[in-house]
Amino acid sequence: MTCELCERDGGELLWRDPRCRVVYVDEPGYPGFCRVIWVAHVKEMSDLSDGDRAHCMRIVFAVESVLREVLRPEKINLASLGNLTPHLHWHLIPRFRDDPHFPNPIWGGRQREPRGGRSWRPVGDIRTALAQRLA
Ligand SMILES: [Zn+2]
Repeated sequence: MTCELCERDGGELLWRDPRCRVVYVDEPGYPGFCRVIWVAHVKEMSDLSDGDRAHCMRIVFAVESVLREVLRPEKINLASLGNLTPHLHWHLIPRFRDDPHFPNPIWGGRQREPRGGRSWRPVGDIRTALAQRLA
């Protein structure tokens, strides 16, 4: 069996430690879309020990805080799906009133085309803020 999150970073690497990594996902219309990916191939949160689960959520909430600070979005969407890639990962998606799917989930029906102006890639600001928060 091949798993794309075992074989590749799954995005632009922003931060990592021995247990998990944070990557930036380049998704047009969605500046700041990040994923927290557990390094070991496990399927569900309940496959982790209590300590690992707490560590995973600490990183998820650190990324959420950084995204709020840097982007000031309307909302953050947090999702752990993994139906197609059953390797534990969290999606962190800053949402804006004028993003292509708002107020639907980004996997739902699109409401509008991405705005031409929304090509902002705050990847450097997120990387810096995350390094400070997790130092
Ligand atoms: Zn995997």
